[in-house]
Amino acid sequence: MVLFEERIGWEKPCGGGLPYKVLDRYPFLLDAVEPHFVTRECEFVAGNGDAARFTMRRPLAIYSRAVLNGLLLDRARRVGAEIAADRVIELQRMSDRWQLRTRQGGLHACDHVVIAAGGRTTLRRQLAPAFKPEDLLLTFGYFVPGCDDLLRVQFFHGFEGYAWAFPRPGHLSVGIAANAGQSTMADLKERLHGFMRQYGYDSKEAPVFSHVLPVLSRRSWKQMRLAGDGWSLVGDAAGLADPITGEGIYFAMRSGELLADCLAENAPDAYPGRVWSDFGSRLAFGALLTHPFYLGNFLGLPSTTRMIQLARRTAVFRDLLQDLIDGLQSYQTLAPRVCWSFIRALAEMAIEPFRGSGSGTNGAAPREAGIPGA
Ligand SMILES: Cc1cc2nc3c(=O)[nH]c(=O)nc-3n(C[C@H](O)[C@H](O)[C@H](O)COP(=O)(O)OP(=O)(O)OC[C@H]3O[C@@H](n4cnc5c(N)ncnc54)[C@H](O)[C@@H]3O)c2cc1C
Repeated sequence: MVLFEERIGWEKPCGGGLPYKVLDRYPFLLDAVEPHFVTRECEFVAGNGDAARFTMRRPLAIYSRAVLNGLLLDRARRVGAEIAADRVIELQRMSDRWQLRTRQGGLHACDHVVIAAGGRTTLRRQLAPAFKPEDLLLTFGYFVPGCDDLLRVQFFHGFEGYAWAFPRPGHLSVGIAANAGQSTMADLKERLHGFMRQYGYDSKEAPVFSHVLPVLSRRSWKQMRLAGDGWSLVGDAAGLADPITGEGIYFAMRSGELLADCLAENAPDAYPGRVWSDFGSRLAFGALLTHPFYLGNFLGLPSTTRMIQLARRTAVFRDLLQDLIDGLQSYQTLAPRVCWSFIRALAEMAIEPFRGSGSGTNGAAPREAGIPGA
């Protein structure tokens, strides 16, 4: 197997955040000797400035993408993949084989081509419908020198996206993402600069990044093509990222794993169905919730603000938020869980005055021992 990577060692624009779901499935990412940051401290800030800061029950790891990509390429090399530092510029179907032409002038033949070339690739164009503006998140940010151990996320009223600050070894990834059909780059920059001023993240001399992230709309899920005769798409090239959080590393790795299983079983046609039943139906359902999540109201306030207020005051909403961060909360059962949690939250708040100090009203969740993966 030959793996073509045109930019070995590059810092792919990304937060590099790996929630618990990734660490649980791929524990080598938590145990790796390569530098990465593990945190449990997080703060969620609402559009009106209300905030919930708490200690997560399960860890979240954050990698620089140069380190993460290097680690994954090393693992591929160790199990026999040949890594070619070259750009594939053309794919051509020759009877039942593919011919790949590379920038350095190489010609390679293969039986099956896997496009894992990210959200901007032009290689998918001859195989699947192009992404529409509604399928793309615009992103912009800085790699800010410094150290911190707090992961911070800020929502904004009337804005379908969020700003983040993710601590990494020696620097922070500080950025913002929003739907390309609904926001402009100028709007993103203004909001991000306000967030950075407010929390003292200094953009002077910080390297800038900007990239697109494909997150399929419900309509595009219906038209999507993941595979065909001798080809398959994985990760961002397929549009497999979470439409609400923009998280995509897990889905890139998991889609690659599912495809590898299908190819090993000589059953490439099974791949789209396995993606759908493993996580695709969750992402497609999530696409229906993006609007209500960011722009909807709950009890007279924006949903994100209400969720943060309730997470600040009640353990039951902190648990819900934690499961969303960890990727353990299915979108299909989110609405019933919010209703059920709200009833429990009312009960928690009703008994709050009768509790002693340390009841959690400051938004601090109790630490728990013996959590798997910790
Ligand atoms: C700003 C931003 C922040 C994000 N934050 C997070 C986060 O915190 N957590 C998370 O889970 N997800 C995050 N994501 C999403 C995540 O970055 C992607 O979902 C993930 O990287 C997808 O992996 P991939 O391998 O499919 O594509 P990529 O990571 O884009 O990798 C594609 C690779 O293919 C190479 N390539 C491209 N074209 C060719 C070619 N023609 N020939 C040879 N090589 C080629 C590229 O050099 C690249 O290394 C973020 C995305 C953005 C834009």
